[in-house]
Amino acid sequence: MKSARFDYLRARSVEEAVRALADAHGEGKIIAGGQSLAPVLALRMARPALLVDVNRIPGLGGITRTSESSIRIGALVRHSALMRQCDHPLLAEVAGWIGHTAIRSRGTTGGSIAHADPSAELPVVAAALDAVVRVAGPRGSREVEAGDLFVGALETSLTEEEMITSVELPIPQRWGFAELSRRHGDFGLVTVVAAEIEGRWRIAVGGVGSVPYRPAEAEALLADGPLTEVTIARAAAATAAGIEPSTDIHASGDYRRAMTEEFTRRALTRATAAPDNGAA
Ligand SMILES: Cc1cc2nc3c(=O)[nH]c(=O)nc-3n(C[C@H](O)[C@H](O)[C@H](O)COP(=O)(O)OP(=O)(O)OC[C@H]3O[C@@H](n4cnc5c(N)ncnc54)[C@H](O)[C@@H]3O)c2cc1C
Repeated sequence: MKSARFDYLRARSVEEAVRALADAHGEGKIIAGGQSLAPVLALRMARPALLVDVNRIPGLGGITRTSESSIRIGALVRHSALMRQCDHPLLAEVAGWIGHTAIRSRGTTGGSIAHADPSAELPVVAAALDAVVRVAGPRGSREVEAGDLFVGALETSLTEEEMITSVELPIPQRWGFAELSRRHGDFGLVTVVAAEIEGRWRIAVGGVGSVPYRPAEAEALLADGPLTEVTIARAAAATAAGIEPSTDIHASGDYRRAMTEEFTRRALTRATAAPDNGAA
């Protein structure tokens, strides 16, 4: 099937893009890498009257070290560029798990966050690190914390007139990433990020609900002492106990819960294995 007809605007600035979205009264959509939107259009799951192409807007493709311990990723930074950068090793590792070479060379950070696929990797990282998403709209800019951004499967709190311009994330001291997928490059059945920031452990799990899950009880269990086999096992069990994954064509809810415990254990164990390199 081919997409329905649409008008096309190649925006030259953020202001022009958000004004065009506002003028389209809910009938406009941004296109960035097109890796998620193009299939949606082809299947006619969306029929926007206007596509606003943001790829030529200057200033959205940079990676900036904003401080010793934080980094800003422009909305147009491709997954392949995230893989190559060295400032944020967790992001570099995770980006390598997104799809395949062609998808990574077109897909963007802003697009992945805005698309809010429950099984996508970058929203899980954003949730684990309490990323701050910068958003522009016709009436100015605002910042949204990741916890307030993801509100449902493929659903964010962005309005139809807004666009993501960048994402700011802390750089964890220690981290671990573990994903269960049928083949490398597939969306994760269960994706776990564990990260230590300013001495506090955070965990986020993807693929087990409509939005990334932050297990408050498991994080509290890790607050009182060093990571050991025992505390890791307790935190992994608490993480799995807190979810109610549904059964779908890919896996049963019970399987996802069991794998959540195992992959949380793996992510935390990797985080302890080698400081500054959770990929060990
Ligand atoms: C075969 C295949 C396999 C894939 N595997 C994976 C995988 O394993 N893991 C994974 O995470 N992803 C996977 N993807 C998705 C891929 O990572 C996409 O690149 C990403 O989800 C969307 O980024 P994009 O730039 O292509 O966005 P687009 O497709 O251009 O847009 C996606 C949505 O986000 C909106 N949008 C885009 N940019 C912005 C912005 N700056 N502000 C506000 N809204 C915006 C669009 O309007 C649209 O609704 C896969 C895709 C394909 C086709």
